[in-house]
Amino acid sequence: MKATLDHVGIAVQDLDAALAFYRDALGLEVEASEEVVSQRVRAHFVPVGASSLELLEATATDSAIAKYIDKRGPGLHHITLRVDDIAAALAQLKAHGARLVDEQPRPGAEGAMVAFIHPSSAHGVLVELKQPAPHDRPRTDAVRRFALGNLELIALCDGFLRLDGGAMFGVVPKALWQKAAPPDDRNRITLAMRPLLVRGVRTMIIDAGLGDKDDAGFRDMYGVDRARNLDHTLAEAGLTVEDVDIVLATHLHFDHAGGFTLRDRSGRLRPRFPRAQYIVRRGEWEDATHPHARNRASYSGDDYLPLADAGVLQLVDEDATIMPGVHVRRTGGHTMHHQIVWIESGGRTAVFAADLMPTTAHARDAWIMGYDLYPMDTLAAKQAFVADAIARDALVFFEHDPAVIAGRLLEQDGKRRVVAAEMHH
Ligand SMILES: [Zn+2]
Ligand SMILES: [Zn+2]
Repeated sequence: MKATLDHVGIAVQDLDAALAFYRDALGLEVEASEEVVSQRVRAHFVPVGASSLELLEATATDSAIAKYIDKRGPGLHHITLRVDDIAAALAQLKAHGARLVDEQPRPGAEGAMVAFIHPSSAHGVLVELKQPAPHDRPRTDAVRRFALGNLELIALCDGFLRLDGGAMFGVVPKALWQKAAPPDDRNRITLAMRPLLVRGVRTMIIDAGLGDKDDAGFRDMYGVDRARNLDHTLAEAGLTVEDVDIVLATHLHFDHAGGFTLRDRSGRLRPRFPRAQYIVRRGEWEDATHPHARNRASYSGDDYLPLADAGVLQLVDEDATIMPGVHVRRTGGHTMHHQIVWIESGGRTAVFAADLMPTTAHARDAWIMGYDLYPMDTLAAKQAFVADAIARDALVFFEHDPAVIAGRLLEQDGKRRVVAAEMHH
């Protein structure tokens, strides 16, 4: 068996003190942190050559890291060895009588398979084996670029969240939807959050994902996984928040507008895109700032009120051209003033469907979210949208689909389906 040191995990009690040593005193670079919600831990990666140090910070008192520190104090927690074939490695270990924590590999971060070996067999060290995700598997949290005439469309990703499967499919029975979207043990299905960057005469981002203002309870309830998020994907696209001129909202629900703002070091909320004008439909703004019992849970004032305070908010009353080639159209349905974005250049068309058709499973007429305030309006808007998209051979962007970033709608023998677009790096 060939193994490579992937990383060394260090349980940290006082993160600031640890950063003072690893970052400041040693002068190492600390990457953006990753939160592993299920483990109640936040990991700060410190690259050292081909491997890295992983500073592990508990986010709750019942976290395994918190318990470890209680028992033994901070320090070396585990080492992780990268292997090509984790099943073969486990079989070999078993044949040699090693005690395993995980008899079978289980899914780890970024599509890897992992398994732990008990410290009693590894001379007091907790050893993790890791088989990285195969490179040929399409990753939907990676940046994808599409050319559309004079425009470039870049699908970004702000990670994933989980919402109740029943609420996502309204009147559709679970017996049907669970085939399209398998639920977890809390009946939640995985949804991506994929803002779209449009580069033309100006640089625009449509929606901005969840952002990072939420507390641990929220992140647990919604199974938030932002291991790779908007910051990472913007950087991969070669951009920073400074490059964005226009932020366009389809609507102000937290999974679309959360990334509009951030909390700075002093705790103050401010616009995340410092140079941008934020464009919001006036009706949606009115609804979001006057929520009622039925929609209150979908809105958080922290996502959009600071925009008005900062003077960067621009309210638009009607369907309008936002920049050359980019046009918003109200659909209603999901919220009264929910809008989608049609993009045209060089005779080609794309459309950002937002929550009118959040996933490919929602391509069918009756598959309408239980969250929608006016489902009959959704139905009418969806039918018109599908006819339009097919007539114009539009590339449809599915903001929430965990697997399909974009595709084309097709109707054959009375059946509607989505042909996923070819992916280009
Ligand atoms: Zn929504
Ligand atoms: Zn949504």
